[in-house]
Amino acid sequence: MKVLLVFAHPEPGSLNGALRDVAVNELEAQGHEVRVTDLYAEGWKSEVDRADFPSLAPDARLVPVAASKKAFETDSLTDDVKAEIEKLLWADVLILQFPLWWFSMPAIMKGWVERVYAYGFAYGVGEHSDTRWGDRYGEGKLAGKRAMLIVTAGGWEEHYSARGVNGPIEDLLFPINHGILYYPGYDVLPPFVAYKVDRLDEAGFETVAGRLRERMRTLQTTAPIPYRRQNGGDYLIPSMQLRPGLADPSASGFALHLGGAEVVRKAS
Ligand code: FAD
Repeated sequence: MKVLLVFAHPEPGSLNGALRDVAVNELEAQGHEVRVTDLYAEGWKSEVDRADFPSLAPDARLVPVAASKKAFETDSLTDDVKAEIEKLLWADVLILQFPLWWFSMPAIMKGWVERVYAYGFAYGVGEHSDTRWGDRYGEGKLAGKRAMLIVTAGGWEEHYSARGVNGPIEDLLFPINHGILYYPGYDVLPPFVAYKVDRLDEAGFETVAGRLRERMRTLQTTAPIPYRRQNGGDYLIPSMQLRPGLADPSASGFALHLGGAEVVRKAS
């Protein structure tokens, strides 16, 4: 398989740098072809601004969605963005690796998403009407590919458990897994999360590295998170609400968008 790893850490000698090498080495040992986008090393520009749309007239008002649409349609996105889109189309698997900073990805990686995910490529894809709300959440230009996160966190695993004070890790990562990866079509694998890493010693590192190698070995066989497909019949169109009768009526929150339990019930 072809794997693109997008990496966000400013220090090559960091724990994240060491884990990236573990992942890449294991993937290559398995015969996969790997490319890495190292955002800090490459000096990635993280803000969306006028410079992203060279064909926009100097006196024209910048409307980011419209400018993105036009630039994608006319092939006038900047070269750095075009190169990342080409890599995403090349890769069978996308891995985003980052330290958890303020419960999310570092700003530089958010800026990679904001600039690379152009209108017509990652959103604004497919028919938008009263009967169809585009190709997204399981469909889209990146459908058929896999994606996953590699995340390190200072907090303990218990702090991110169902009753933990930080909130469950599944919820914290939902906007990335569901909103950024599933949205343009990826099958999203459960994240790899290393907790309590700030005082990791050599033995702790070896344990984490071993778990990561195992995840890299099972990239092709790990079952994706069973998110509901937008156009699979579970949602009303155009309100895009989960149909009555699906999930417990009193339930709310991100877990509503997991269809696994019902899939299992229907199958049994
Ligand atoms: P490093 O600091 O590089 O290393 C961590 C430890 O691993 C060190 O003790 C290092 O010696 C050791 N180590 C062991 N073996 C190796 C090896 N082979 N190579 C390198 N290092 C090794 N945490 C949360 O849980 N939630 C948050 O919301 C959050 N927000 C944050 C916001 C900011 C701005 C910052 C700076 C930190 C935040 N943290 C948070 C903590 C953060 O997630 C961790 O500091 C980070 O994940 C550690 O990864 P690192 O690569 O920077 O580790």
